[in-house]
Amino acid sequence: MPILEKISQPSQARHWTDSIPLEYHYTAGVAGEAFRQELKETGRFLISKCAKCKNSYVPARMFCPSCFVEMKETKPLEKPGYVYSFTVVNRNRTGEPGEPVTILLVKFEGVEGGIIHKLDAKTSDVSFGMRVSPTLKNPDERTGALTDILSFRPI
Ligand SMILES: [Zn+2]
Repeated sequence: MPILEKISQPSQARHWTDSIPLEYHYTAGVAGEAFRQELKETGRFLISKCAKCKNSYVPARMFCPSCFVEMKETKPLEKPGYVYSFTVVNRNRTGEPGEPVTILLVKFEGVEGGIIHKLDAKTSDVSFGMRVSPTLKNPDERTGALTDILSFRPI
């Protein structure tokens, strides 16, 4: 039945279940790709610095969200991060109860933005402002994905 035809009897209403094969390819963008390359090759986080407002951002991005100007200056982040916020997740992706996982929002002094990742320590050991550093995969195993970061652990 074409979609423009009206149903006069409820018994005419039908539905069917099927699937539409769709395939997506997302890119990380220019700055995102540079961030991924830096992570893969050196294990460091790439930041962008705005020439106008002097703010720095992690992960690297092309445009300053405050000034809307292109940020051309990038450099690897040298400082350790700190726990800005955290939460404990007690369920897995399907909603089933599972082992508690502590998820951190890691920020870096003098840099806007942050990295969200797992904590590699007991939840009782985490506190706001605690210094953390990333644990990465071995250089030959890295692919340039955020999964190259295994976790963050207290320094
Ligand atoms: Zn700016």
